[in-house]
Amino acid sequence: MVIHPSLLSRLKDQTLVVEAAKVGTEWQSWAQDGSRFDVTNPATGEVLASLPALGPIEARRAVEAAKRAQKAWAKRTGKDRASVLKRWHQLWLENLDDLAVILTSEQGKPLTEARGEVLYGASYLEWFAEEAKRIYGDIIPAHAENLRILVMKQPVGVVGAITPWNFPNAMIARKVAPALAVGCAMVAKPAAETPLSMLALAMLADRAGIPDGLFSVITARSGSEFGKEMTSNPDVAKITFTGSTEVGRILMRQGAEQIKKLGLELGGNAPFIVFDDADIDAAIDGAMAAKFRNAGQTCVCANRIYVQSAVYDAFLEKLSARVSTLKVGNGIDQGITIGPLINAASIDKVQDHIADALAHGARIVTGGDTSPLGPLFLNPTVVADVTSAMKVAREETFGPLAPVFRFETVDEVIAMANDTEFGLSGYFYARDMARIIKVAEALEVGIVGVNTGLISTEVAPFGGVKQSGLGREGSQYGVEDYLEIKYVCLGGQEA
Ligand code: NAP
Repeated sequence: MVIHPSLLSRLKDQTLVVEAAKVGTEWQSWAQDGSRFDVTNPATGEVLASLPALGPIEARRAVEAAKRAQKAWAKRTGKDRASVLKRWHQLWLENLDDLAVILTSEQGKPLTEARGEVLYGASYLEWFAEEAKRIYGDIIPAHAENLRILVMKQPVGVVGAITPWNFPNAMIARKVAPALAVGCAMVAKPAAETPLSMLALAMLADRAGIPDGLFSVITARSGSEFGKEMTSNPDVAKITFTGSTEVGRILMRQGAEQIKKLGLELGGNAPFIVFDDADIDAAIDGAMAAKFRNAGQTCVCANRIYVQSAVYDAFLEKLSARVSTLKVGNGIDQGITIGPLINAASIDKVQDHIADALAHGARIVTGGDTSPLGPLFLNPTVVADVTSAMKVAREETFGPLAPVFRFETVDEVIAMANDTEFGLSGYFYARDMARIIKVAEALEVGIVGVNTGLISTEVAPFGGVKQSGLGREGSQYGVEDYLEIKYVCLGGQEA
């Protein structure tokens, strides 16, 4: 149980790295059976910290504490809840540098991206703190003279949250901010690879005056026991999950018994389409952002790049020139733009997609080789002449591989883009307005970026269609997931 000096020495406030979980009202350093798991730095392989491997007992205790805390929290005014959340937001910003260092150390992304993620996470807290004062109900004109009809919005209660490793700060921010704003409590489990970021936020929550028990962070070696407890515990009103479609399905099956409410932000297979009337330089900028941010490990990552025949060669040439300027390395070092992947399985998947594409007739334009920097580093790669028969067309690669497909017509590319069970995001570059409207309407996704590769913001609804999820996070729609609608019919009124 020693926090690695490479992490501690970079922090202004060393108390933000904790080797304990927040279980209800207490910070707990040990599991009952003493078991622990290590958090490692994917860039160096160093063990950063060791955490208690907690199980259903602790998760249950956290739910009991959450249930108690939630009742009192929901009674407080929206303005009061907003002021506590704003204090948390303020601390989040004041500790930006440390939160970013913790994030890069456990997740690997370049420090500038980590800072961007911390700010992005904080923006949700600010947005929903403001929204806490605006949870409006309705009065509906009644169907009889002696009746009045009220619609109340009430918090669902205790929410179980499960988040992935690719955005350890922002993914919990998108959940905990709206949940607490409307009067819910949350019991959360971070991914085993990246728990330190969420624990640091829980530490700041304590300092901000978030009531004890309202936000628990359960550290566990794997998510399955926690998922089972959340789906079977009758005191958990809702589960919000961000991660793979496969685990989303498991939670849905497990929650069926209690008709558990679910918010699911799942996998994607985003098309990125470049039409022949596009501004090619702008499309290259967009492709770089949508494809290579977080080394390609984002759910809205451009997974399939479709380029119209007339501009195919020019786009490929410019893309490969830009990709070869990316700098691979330890994200903590200055100037690095591509960090390590999260684990060996991720490396294997990208390499498998490259090998499969080559075996089926694609060619490498840039990269394709491993990096000498360490086992989790891969050189960013561009592969051309990709077809729908290849794995990259169907599976989420989740790595720094840009597969480029050629297409001829608008209808052809719409059909190709929609030929997937996923429907999170899609991007395209074009100038013709009729084409823009047609394609934006036709893409079967929850989020469309037109002439931009960056679409995430707290003010817009984020979420997918098809097998990419249920519900939306962010914007005024983001509070709906944490509210119940109650209709009150008032009889005996003066006619
Ligand atoms: P994952 O394997 O589904 O894991 C996500 C979380 O679920 C982790 O905390 C994991 O815990 C937990 N988990 C694993 N098995 C579980 C089970 N049986 N029951 C309950 N929880 C379980 O996904 P990932 O590989 O970490 O993340 C990448 C995926 O997330 C990609 O598909 C990506 O597209 C998606 N994603 C979607 C969004 C979105 O907003 N739509 C955002 C980011 C990522 P442990 O790892 O500790 O076992």
